Amino acid sequence: MNPLIQKQNFLSSPLRMVIGGQHKDASDGARLSVVDPSTGAEFTTLPAGGAEDADAAVKAARNCFESPAWQKMKPVTRQRLINKLADLIEEHAEELADLESIDGGKPRGIARASDVASVIDVFRYFAGWATKLTGETLDVSVPRMPDGEFFAYTSKQPVGVVVGITPWNFPISMAAWKIAPALAAGCTIVLKPAEDTSVTALRLAELALEAGFPEGAVNVVTGRGSEVGAALVAHPDVDKVSFTGSVATGQAIGRAAMDTMKRVTLELGGKSPVIVMPDADLDWAVTGAAMAIFFNQGQTCTAGSRLYVHKSIEAEFMARLTEQAKALKIGAAYEDGVFFGPMISESHAQKVSKYIEVGDAEGVTFTLRGQRLDREGFFVSPTIMSGTHQDMQVVQEEIFGPVLAASTFETEEEAIKLANGTQFGLAGSIWTKDIRAGHQMSAKIQAGIVWINCHNLFDPNLPFGGVGLSGVGRDLGKSAVEANLEQKSVLLRLE
Ligand code: NAP
Ligand code: MG
Repeated sequence: MNPLIQKQNFLSSPLRMVIGGQHKDASDGARLSVVDPSTGAEFTTLPAGGAEDADAAVKAARNCFESPAWQKMKPVTRQRLINKLADLIEEHAEELADLESIDGGKPRGIARASDVASVIDVFRYFAGWATKLTGETLDVSVPRMPDGEFFAYTSKQPVGVVVGITPWNFPISMAAWKIAPALAAGCTIVLKPAEDTSVTALRLAELALEAGFPEGAVNVVTGRGSEVGAALVAHPDVDKVSFTGSVATGQAIGRAAMDTMKRVTLELGGKSPVIVMPDADLDWAVTGAAMAIFFNQGQTCTAGSRLYVHKSIEAEFMARLTEQAKALKIGAAYEDGVFFGPMISESHAQKVSKYIEVGDAEGVTFTLRGQRLDREGFFVSPTIMSGTHQDMQVVQEEIFGPVLAASTFETEEEAIKLANGTQFGLAGSIWTKDIRAGHQMSAKIQAGIVWINCHNLFDPNLPFGGVGLSGVGRDLGKSAVEANLEQKSVLLRLE
């Protein structure tokens, strides 16, 4: 039994969607089971929304968007409301960390210090953008017109109703990444969190109302992606979809969105390389490589799941890395001092375990062979495979679990070629004391973000997203605000 569950008032009554400021069940009353990954036990249920609920939420978001109160709201008022929401998240940080930990199997300490803490920063960061949106004035030489005076400018307008669809690996963070820039830009939003982890998003929607956002500004619908999610993406009155999740779903959403020309941001998967140069600080690099893959049990889109170590340091590096991986404290998310919790679900634990077998069949050497732990919950311990080759499935496919594929290189060119040798392009890291080399290599890595002597670090001001199959567009930073705005050109003839 997870001791955090009893403490949570929010879980003592049935969870309900938040649509137009009202708590709602699914229109047909259907519900889904919600399971604690640390124990495998159901701890609550969720509304399983469908097309009717999607429609109600879009209507609520549209009504709010078009209301005079929203249209005339001063940017400074929006800024204040978003900041108020950040304050409320901070006030409820312990509660939100408990909920995130129960629902997603995240070690409780990490949920508080990393996930919830960063969400507060994200809301505060985007609050500031609400008062800093600008267009431009432009000098024009209008063809075919007599010399005359023209005045031209661009203005930025919110795209309108935004749909955010998020995955289960960083539930409250991803909710914040979608909600905060949309509100800063003056949009209203319907969020569809992952069915495995919808709890904190529902609590966030309540806090948004408490902060003073009008009904319909922030709506959260729950249920299956294939039902309520697909209905939102197909809805003709949605102006933009911002999605984070798998490549296959992202491709389907991108195609569907084009039917009604919705704007899309797609943050998809990755298979990110970690390159360790021979001059790297080994203490940092070993710990960095271990954290790059094993943080969040490897269920991180930017996980450093491919390790390329210079041949001259391979033996020492792999020995030390393996030692660190063995020393990670594995346990239920509610246990003190745990770093490494369960996989999100039974099916995901099975998928990850299967990849360990695939590696075996492909002939890798197990420096550390992970396994399904003989205890309740969905635990799969860390795996390090060495001697991997570029054409192996375990090198090319995103496992989204604690499975590292390692191999070596001898020249910088070879390292770059290996790093760029997948269809993904989300992230990568380079470990070297030679900052000049690191800087030059970073330009050649095909990825949306390259870390030098660090990995998996994010900042609200740093745009985040991928190239190649890793997606289209950027979350975070000014780019994320711009992605929620339309640019309008205005040409004024003055004569
Ligand atoms: P997923 O299956 O693609 O699901 C993501 C979200 O999309 C969930 O809310 C899901 O709902 C919904 N969905 C599923 N089918 C849909 C459809 N046809 N129409 C509309 N929505 C639909 O991904 P996941 O398994 O949750 O997450 C793991 C994947 O996300 C990994 O591949 C990982 O790399 C990627 N990821 C990427 C980033 C990034 O920023 N690039 C960040 C985190 C994760 P259900 O929960 O009901 O299925
Ligand atoms: Mg769950």
